[in-house]
Amino acid sequence: RAARSGGEAAREYMPSMGQVFLRRFQLVTQFRSALESGQVSVHYQPKVALSDRQVLGVEALVRWRHPEYGALDPDEFVPAVEAAGLIDALTTFVMERSLEKVREWLSRGLRISAAVNLSVRNLADTEFPDRVADALERHHVPPELLTLELTESGVMADPEKALPVLRRLHAMGIVLAVDDFGTGYSSLAYLRQLPVDEVKIDKSFVLGMGTDLGDLAVVRSIVELGHSLELTVVAEGVEDDAARDALTAMGCDVAQGYLISRPLSDSRLEAWLRARTHRMVNRRDETVLTL
Ligand code: C2E
Ligand code: MG
Ligand code: MG
Ligand code: MG
Repeated sequence: RAARSGGEAAREYMPSMGQVFLRRFQLVTQFRSALESGQVSVHYQPKVALSDRQVLGVEALVRWRHPEYGALDPDEFVPAVEAAGLIDALTTFVMERSLEKVREWLSRGLRISAAVNLSVRNLADTEFPDRVADALERHHVPPELLTLELTESGVMADPEKALPVLRRLHAMGIVLAVDDFGTGYSSLAYLRQLPVDEVKIDKSFVLGMGTDLGDLAVVRSIVELGHSLELTVVAEGVEDDAARDALTAMGCDVAQGYLISRPLSDSRLEAWLRARTHRMVNRRDETVLTL
């Protein structure tokens, strides 16, 4: 351990540069076999409409149960996997699992969409839209039940490459969402030139809105901005009733966060759906689940 002298907090976990480097190297070299051996899995977090409590979809969030390091946070290994040029394998894995899930629900008469997080590398890959089209076809999933989440930095890294890819995905009927909005280059001018349908307010603002007037103002203005551009506005990081009520009052469309559910394994999600939701028939005669 590097920082023995650093007091309580430092003693807990403060790896040296060498350890960080070694671990990153190990993660990258082990990633493919981890995918194949079942160490990597997909968890799902429900997204619920604030107006009528309908479960609209789930966000797919990757998890890695590492034999040596335990449960790894995607923030630790996704950037390493990305930098090593292995993001295709990850995105494909998560997309395949998600589409299988949506197909399974459709077979049970349920209309629930899945959202997959993209990496900047996916947006620079001109063949990516073809592979998504192929995956939708193989799984018999209509494009509107797939959402792809991208970050502003992902688009801004290389807009010349990303924009045509996004336009094609959008033209296919896939729902596009801007994730973590408010943290990057966010501006009206930027958002209105993107072919997107949904904006997700970064959880830092939602988590802070109960105590910080600045965060509250940011949340309020993203809701207004999103609606003025006819986008669906999603708040992530909804942890308590107060946040949910404030967001509902502002007219925010969708909530995602620990108040509704943490990200759940496949079997725990199914248990959650059984225990916490009931079936309803909507105006279009489709069966939907509501809280
Ligand atoms: P994200 O896409 O913004 O996902 C939301 C993150 O917020 C998730 O963290 C989720 O567990 C967490 N979260 C949800 N509700 C709450 C809440 O109420 N309070 C708090 N404090 N946190 C909440 P997670 O699963 O650790 O993922 C972190 C990031 O890793 C994601 O942020 C996404 O950028 C990336 N990621 C996850 N899965 C994938 C993937 O399959 N592919 C790629 N490229 N990136 C992924
Ligand atoms: Mg996301
Ligand atoms: Mg986010
Ligand atoms: Mg994030």
